[in-house]
Amino acid sequence: DAPAAGKVSTRYDLEKETELRFEVEAGEAAEQLELELLTGMAEVFGSELNRNKKYTFGPGSKIAVFTWQGCSVNLYGKPEVAYVSKDTPMLLYLNTHAALEQMRKQAERDNERGPRVMVVGPTDVGKSTVCRLLLSYAVRVGRRPTLVELDVGQSGVSVPGTVSALCIERPADVEEGFSVQAPLVYHFGSTTPGTNIKLYNKLTSCLAEVFSQRCEVNRKASVGGCIINTCGWVKGSGYQALVHCASAFQVDVVLVLDHERLYNELKRDLPHFVRVVLLPKSGGVVERSKECRRETRDEKIREYFYGFRGVSFYPFSFEVRFSDVRIYKIGAPSIPDSCLPLGMSQDDTQLKLVPVTPGRDLTYHVLSVSSAEDGEEGARKGIVESPVCGFIVVTYVDTQAQVMKVLSPAPRPLPRHTLLIMDIRFMDMK
Ligand code: ATP
Repeated sequence: DAPAAGKVSTRYDLEKETELRFEVEAGEAAEQLELELLTGMAEVFGSELNRNKKYTFGPGSKIAVFTWQGCSVNLYGKPEVAYVSKDTPMLLYLNTHAALEQMRKQAERDNERGPRVMVVGPTDVGKSTVCRLLLSYAVRVGRRPTLVELDVGQSGVSVPGTVSALCIERPADVEEGFSVQAPLVYHFGSTTPGTNIKLYNKLTSCLAEVFSQRCEVNRKASVGGCIINTCGWVKGSGYQALVHCASAFQVDVVLVLDHERLYNELKRDLPHFVRVVLLPKSGGVVERSKECRRETRDEKIREYFYGFRGVSFYPFSFEVRFSDVRIYKIGAPSIPDSCLPLGMSQDDTQLKLVPVTPGRDLTYHVLSVSSAEDGEEGARKGIVESPVCGFIVVTYVDTQAQVMKVLSPAPRPLPRHTLLIMDIRFMDMK
């Protein structure tokens, strides 16, 4: 697989414990870059590179090629930026992995559970990258850790607006990240926890419960422990949500990236047996603009329907009669306490299922298909806590005919008829 003709090639000789950082230009027309390891050994976010294999990185990718022993690599194409850095926190991250591995060994010996780790910090400090690194290192030594994804804005597992858990069975693919097979996904509905913090905390508890149940019956999962990726919102209710998560998962270790105040607050507020560790962020982490985050979110939804790189999916488009489905929004707008019906609390309103009357304003909204059994009123109860089995997008609404057209990964009919509406919209440009 020779690189495309005419691509410039640049060779980098990296000394031990240094990394080559590069960014691929963003935008549809941008040229992809190829990377090849020529000599020595190197890894990308914890996954080892094979020698003489060309790895392709698409527009907008921000990559670090790190080497413990020294190596040389070739870059084919013109990166937006590319430089070598000697100053990386990788040794600290590796030590963190070593400490977690010690805890797993001890858990194995004493028939206990392995470390449950929560990674926290403001936006753009490399939380997702640290999670990926620790998970890949853990599987590389034969562990089966679980990734818990609580970042509803930039989920690495499913579409935005969801929280999820994924058992990690092999290191992340250098180009594509972790293979996402059979994740457990819950509907949240928007890209920031603040829109419904009660629901966010409730879903965190649901995930914690399912994970604990799995640990009870699966020793490898229990010893492997979990790595929890969180949102970058670390103040007010965002902070409270972190404290809630620590308690729901009974975390043993909290890794705070680059935020001393948050570190001190968590040390103060979490039980003394929780190890709170402050870690520096990597200078390589690239700040992403609002626009860039929006594009990444859109891309994630597009991937869900159309596939990624080598794998193309062919979604279906069909009509769904209003009378065949029930659409809900989770959470009624909050009303003053004094106006609440007797015996009802604000919690109840935030977790309430509000029926949505289908209309034109549904167009482009992403809807989660709930796995809750179809049924009348009685079955409504479990919907909030039920995982989702997939997503559809409304592409057209015909109020006269009382039907809507949807984009779906599977042919008709829908597997279930309870749909939950997201604030998130997706315009299909294909
Ligand atoms: P958010 O809060 O938005 O989820 P985050 O704190 O999880 O952000 P990451 O997603 O881990 O941050 O990193 C942001 C970007 O920086 C990613 O595109 C990632 O590939 C890139 N990145 C991380 N570490 C490095 C590095 N050492 N060199 C170059 N790029 C890096």
